[in-house]
Amino acid sequence: MFDLLKSELTRRTILHKAGFGLIALSTFGAVGTIFKPTRTLAQAGPAPAKEPLPPEKKLGWAVVGLGKFATQQIIPSFAECKRSKLVALVSSDRTKAKRYAQQYGVNPKNIYNYQNYDSIRDNPEVDVIYVILPNGLHAEYSIRGAQAGKHIMCEKPMANTVEECQAMINAAKKSDRKLMIAYRSQYEPYNLTAIWIAQSGKLGKLKAIASDHGRNLDLKDPADRWRANKKLAGGGSLYDIGIYSLQAARYITGEEPQEISAMMYSTPGDPRFREVEENVNFVLRFPSGVLANCTSSYGYSDTKRIQVFGSDATLELDPATDYYQHRLTIKRKNGNEEQNIEEKNQFALEIDHLSESIMQNKQPKTPGEEGLQDVRLMQLIYEAARTGKTIKV
Ligand code: NAD
Repeated sequence: MFDLLKSELTRRTILHKAGFGLIALSTFGAVGTIFKPTRTLAQAGPAPAKEPLPPEKKLGWAVVGLGKFATQQIIPSFAECKRSKLVALVSSDRTKAKRYAQQYGVNPKNIYNYQNYDSIRDNPEVDVIYVILPNGLHAEYSIRGAQAGKHIMCEKPMANTVEECQAMINAAKKSDRKLMIAYRSQYEPYNLTAIWIAQSGKLGKLKAIASDHGRNLDLKDPADRWRANKKLAGGGSLYDIGIYSLQAARYITGEEPQEISAMMYSTPGDPRFREVEENVNFVLRFPSGVLANCTSSYGYSDTKRIQVFGSDATLELDPATDYYQHRLTIKRKNGNEEQNIEEKNQFALEIDHLSESIMQNKQPKTPGEEGLQDVRLMQLIYEAARTGKTIKV
């Protein structure tokens, strides 16, 4: 199966298959049956961390920014990491940092603020810095982190502009450090299975993709307030959540789009959309002829869905890019097959992927260049919407 997969996949897909070792794949036998894992593919990228390393061998991570995502998802996930441990915190709120340090066993001497952040260079316990700040601050804190001699994991979107992304890549290169963008879906078993199914011909010839990501922006939530500020957010729904639709179209096809058209609309008078956009619908044309129809919204209620339309069957992932509890269905003329795949902590998987890449001196699967490509494409989506023209990439 692996040889078949290999021959069918493009160069970019080979990159994606680094995560396939983490999933079990079915033979897609009887229609309507529950998915039964029949074999696990050998991993092509860094070997999966089967046994946890002893604490002294794990790489030490510092988390920068103790907001909602960092404290609710990332910090707790270190407990499930096999190659990585949390050793330092960076926050402007020392009381909050001390509370989390105590809860997660971080030495209080390893608490930094944004002023003394650069002195992290003198801390040999810290190998990797994970930047989980508002988007407009990603470039500054990633560059300062790389200059301090640390490897960098940066949240999506990578930065506000292509120039900032390039400066981050340059800084990591100059310091000979790794830079990875935290595209968790590319480490998540349901999405990896969807990629494999789509690219291995199980759906027939791929014709179209639909991907919808939206939520209703809530300014009462402090984590949403900066998202309405262009300088801190870089863009609106597209930068925050539409990026998942864009990513899905790219990783499902394993191709890069050649043409883009788009339309944008924000509800007039809505105070949330003074600086950033509410809705962007965009269409991507890929070299194979696949057309992807994507939506991105800060106005509609929680949606995180990917559909892949092939000549023989349709794949539906819904929810596709949630934190837990994904659902994958293959729909055929004669019935639907629900694919039951073991859920894994995608945050722990992506964190360990970077640690493993550092230990083996390999390029991570989602390096800075992957983040830059999305920022470049999102800028072109805005241009297509602004001009009403189809843009050639
Ligand atoms: P948040 O507002 O909860 O956290 C941001 C943190 O940055 C806060 O602790 C805040 O105090 C701090 N901060 C420092 N300087 C700031 C400034 N000038 N203005 C505002 N806050 C400042 O936001 P969040 O939802 O945790 O998002 C943080 C990052 O994580 C964003 O880049 C976001 O895109 C990303 N994120 C990723 C995922 C994912 O699934 N990968 C999910 C949520 C958020």
